[in-house]
Amino acid sequence: MSLQTAQLNELHWMMEVLHTIDVGLVVLDRDYTIQIWNGFMENHSGLLPREVKGKLLFDLFDEIPQDWFRRKAESVFLLKNKAFTIWEQRPYVFKFNNYRPITGTAEFMYQNTTFIPLMSTTGEVSHLCLLVYDVTDNATQKKELKKANAELAIFSRTDGLTQLFNRNHWQQCIAAEFKRYTRNQHASSLVMLDIDHFKAVNDNYGHLVGDDVIRHLAKLIREQVRETDISARYGGEEFIILLADTYAEGGLIFAERLRKTVEESVIIYNEIEIQYTISLGVAQVEPSYSTVTQWLEHTDNALYQSKGNGRNKVTVYQK
Ligand code: GH3
Ligand code: MG
Ligand code: MG
Repeated sequence: MSLQTAQLNELHWMMEVLHTIDVGLVVLDRDYTIQIWNGFMENHSGLLPREVKGKLLFDLFDEIPQDWFRRKAESVFLLKNKAFTIWEQRPYVFKFNNYRPITGTAEFMYQNTTFIPLMSTTGEVSHLCLLVYDVTDNATQKKELKKANAELAIFSRTDGLTQLFNRNHWQQCIAAEFKRYTRNQHASSLVMLDIDHFKAVNDNYGHLVGDDVIRHLAKLIREQVRETDISARYGGEEFIILLADTYAEGGLIFAERLRKTVEESVIIYNEIEIQYTISLGVAQVEPSYSTVTQWLEHTDNALYQSKGNGRNKVTVYQK
């Protein structure tokens, strides 16, 4: 085989490979007219090379934002450097359907695209090569992982029975609020509450009814708090609410309203009417507190005074 034949063969094979690889390959001239269009591009666009050759890219694919594309390409022509666009910045350059069996849920093909300057023999960048990678599998997996992580984050801070925050997450919130308080001297109050004689509810009607009562109370709390308040299920049938920007007087009004609403509520379970009451303690944050624990202890003291004074009561902590 002569050297020339060998070189021709090599070139031929190279063209064959470029035509069949699973990556889109497009060559554009400086006027953005298409010069080369490989098999990947043909298969996904449905347009044959002879149909696109010599045509302006933007006339065929009006989904490509011209300003953005020209800016990107001009920098490649000028600086003679590669440029990239990834699916996280722009899901695709060419809007192709997604046919992948595994990631069939994606509406379109996610793409990463590389812009490569093609040098002429005189050293000028006369053409631009686009390599278009189908990254739908990767993008879909990443998006699903992100969604799952977001759901997990919600799950990990939510109490399963009531959908209020759980104790752990609430403690993180209060730590932040306490710091904010010490910085800005905002008034905030804590309300702690516990269902009265709850053991009797469980004993008389069973645990499932007990659960219903806990859920009922959670619903009333949700309805009465403001968006800036942070409420949580603190223990079995014990709840805690952080009333943001609220003095003890405001806390008392809130707690009294909740106490009364609970007292007046009737839960109907299998035609049985169930009523229950709650005891509450309120404490306003004090400048003398150096830890959240002190604030919690004082709120807890107030709650247990309400229990000691006959239950179905509100007590505000007194220094
Ligand atoms: P008190 O008025 O002094 O608060 O009396 P109490 O009977 O409510 O006493 P306590 O607060 O100590 O009782 C808590 C009871 O709550 C004990 C436990 O069996 C029940 N409990 C805790 N968590 C749950 C739950 O998730 N579901 C149900 N149904 N019961 C629970
Ligand atoms: Mg109780
Ligand atoms: Mg309790």
